[in-house]
Amino acid sequence: MDASTGLPGRPESSLSPGRPEFTERMEAARALDAGALAALLSDPDPRTTARLAAAADETMRAEVGDAVRFRGLLEFSNVCRADCLYCGIRRSNGTVHRYTLSRDDVLAAARHCVEAGYGSLTLQAGERRDAAFIDYVCRLLESIKTETRGPALPDGLGITLSVGEQSPEVYRRFFEAGAHRYLLRIETSSPELYARIHPPAQRYADRRAALHAVRDAGFQVGTGVMIGLAGQTVWDLADDIRFFAIEGVDMIGMGPYLPHASTPMGSGQHMSDDERAQLLDRTLRMIALTRIVLRDVNIAATTALQTLDAFGRERALQGGANVVMPVVTPVAMRSGYQLYDGKACVDEDPTMCAGCITGRVAWTGRPVEANRWGDAPHFARRKQG
Ligand code: SAH
Repeated sequence: MDASTGLPGRPESSLSPGRPEFTERMEAARALDAGALAALLSDPDPRTTARLAAAADETMRAEVGDAVRFRGLLEFSNVCRADCLYCGIRRSNGTVHRYTLSRDDVLAAARHCVEAGYGSLTLQAGERRDAAFIDYVCRLLESIKTETRGPALPDGLGITLSVGEQSPEVYRRFFEAGAHRYLLRIETSSPELYARIHPPAQRYADRRAALHAVRDAGFQVGTGVMIGLAGQTVWDLADDIRFFAIEGVDMIGMGPYLPHASTPMGSGQHMSDDERAQLLDRTLRMIALTRIVLRDVNIAATTALQTLDAFGRERALQGGANVVMPVVTPVAMRSGYQLYDGKACVDEDPTMCAGCITGRVAWTGRPVEANRWGDAPHFARRKQG
């Protein structure tokens, strides 16, 4: 009871900012304690989000600097042999108009990245394993490398590739052809949850083996998860962060799971405003904690976050993220790469995206690192050690 007001005393959260418990839990989280990670993710005190963001920002500035790195994101094909139960471009979704960009379109997008000062390009597509596709990707990589060399980029654009699970031999070919980073999200580190969101033919063990093969081929390795899957607990998310740390990955891209109406998981799903706010909060805490625990990696503020909240990407940049991926896919194809409903920026062309994203990053007060590949320091340290 508060003596001055006669009202019951305000309940103190065990994790109020400034209280020793918060600092202790942060230290335990850094040591990969699952209980501490889960407690920080689920603490009901809303101030915990800001507190984690501040700690993540401090870690980011000390470990990777304050500059924001850009990668132009080119979604060059939506043809896919996989059938992920959450994804709008899954093989079984017959409502999608399938496309694969021509070599000329890919090179034009790459040149746009150079002109915009992005320094790096991310090539993403659905998954195909046939020889024609693999050869096509290898030729694209070689052409982008030779055709984007210039005074600003003597070694051409940095290239991140993201075309799903491939054989160790194919990963080696992609690396030799000029890609030097590879993104393959584990989607969730829980084998049980993974099995619930994929058909039986897509096995967790294969995804994990592919991630190791990516690393063995010499790539800088990126992975990540979706946040807010049905049945996913804070313990699963705590394990996701532990997974990133144990695997020693160099880059993280993670975002909220958003329903797509033409998928088994998304049909009939609708998120209320409250649910969206909670999902945003949880995603921001995941990003901040991942920075606090992994320290010197690159962490992306993703398009899915931007779709969930108009300022989602900016909030991520203010709480641990240091990479932004402006979409450079030609506007005519964008609606064909709808992984989830309501995807941000589908009606905008690459020039509009360049202006918009530059303004948004300027708003956060962070400098931009132009004309650089912007590799994570973690990779250089991993190679030395
Ligand atoms: N074929 C590549 C690229 C997949 S698309 C691969 O297999 O890696 C890139 C990412 O989009 C996926 O890894 C997944 O995490 C995310 N994604 C797909 N559907 C989504 C949805 N409904 N909501 C949020 N993210 C989704």
